[in-house]
Amino acid sequence: LKEKFLQAALKSDFYKKKLDGLRLDHWEEIPFTTKKELREAEAYSLLGTDIANIATYHETSGTTGKPTSCWYSHADVMREAKNLIDSDVALNENDLVLNRFTFTVAVASFIFYWACQQARAGHICLAKSAVSTPSRVLDVMMRTNPSILVDIAYELERLAGAAKRLGLTIPNANLRAIWVAGEMVPPARKKWLEKLWGVPVFGLFGTTETGGLFVTCKNGHFHLDNPNVFVEVVDDEGRPLGFNERGNFVISTLREGMPVLRYANEDLVEIREGTECGCGRTEPILIHYGRKEDFMEVNGRIFTLYDLMNIVYELPDVPMAWRFHVSNQDLKFEYQTYDGTVDDPKRTEMEAILRDKLGCKVQAYHSEIIPEASLVQPSALTKFAYLIRQSRQ
Ligand SMILES: [Zn+2]
Repeated sequence: LKEKFLQAALKSDFYKKKLDGLRLDHWEEIPFTTKKELREAEAYSLLGTDIANIATYHETSGTTGKPTSCWYSHADVMREAKNLIDSDVALNENDLVLNRFTFTVAVASFIFYWACQQARAGHICLAKSAVSTPSRVLDVMMRTNPSILVDIAYELERLAGAAKRLGLTIPNANLRAIWVAGEMVPPARKKWLEKLWGVPVFGLFGTTETGGLFVTCKNGHFHLDNPNVFVEVVDDEGRPLGFNERGNFVISTLREGMPVLRYANEDLVEIREGTECGCGRTEPILIHYGRKEDFMEVNGRIFTLYDLMNIVYELPDVPMAWRFHVSNQDLKFEYQTYDGTVDDPKRTEMEAILRDKLGCKVQAYHSEIIPEASLVQPSALTKFAYLIRQSRQ
């Protein structure tokens, strides 16, 4: 099994060079591929196939430095689409999908579009831009009545806040599912999104480098059921970890456009038994705790972003937007409510719950994290105007 991942990797110049002269008969001795190596690699050296087979080119966001180049072949496109179509969402020709992911550089939007094409479902692109303000997106939803909404969790929360301010009812009549990607959605957040939108929420977990890896089952679990992916969890010394042990994520893929071998992407994960899920799938379950660097230390206790989200989304009044401000002196929780108003007793209650869960004093304060005006403003004009009329006094 592992041999085919090694063979796939050796098709790229990057891996030919990296693995040159190494003994490759023991999988555990194959060196990890780091984020830094992929970032610094020349774009074409990462190609796993002839350029004639390439369908699309993408890049990672580059928020932490130089972006990584990522290639997808036409065969990859088919596989990415199939991964979504075979999931419990059961995407089909009667679906109309409203897709809010950006088509600029990133790959998630394309994966959903490819799946729509292959399933013969209808597709609406309202990628985040000056045109697709929350009020415009809600307008289009009311006009077209889509059956599936595809978005980042943060945007779904913002959109629900906009609907409240505009007096619109969500979900629209036909909406049957929401698909989220690009952000962590721990159980408490999934439950909250389902309450907010009134439909089941599914997750797609993947990265630009690896493609879509896993889709949640109807019970919200990422089963390791993708035959084109091999997953490992290792400790900081690179030793393999067993079930129920949190560690570093290591991924190998058979992606033709750009294979990766033992890629340690700096995410924290854990693998659990999958037989007890009850959805019908029995493969082990992957728990994604987010990026390794996204954690907060309070009095010697570590809270990952996953832990923090599970706390915030269980508050009696879940905020529309929120963030923690950490400093040596104190911990502040900035938040914005769904109706934009502040209720002092509720704020005091929130502080008490956070203090209890985090084990230290927390100061909560309300602010316009998302400018209120941006939630209700119509679409922006984006075309250059050659004629400007000025009305005479
Ligand atoms: Zn399941």
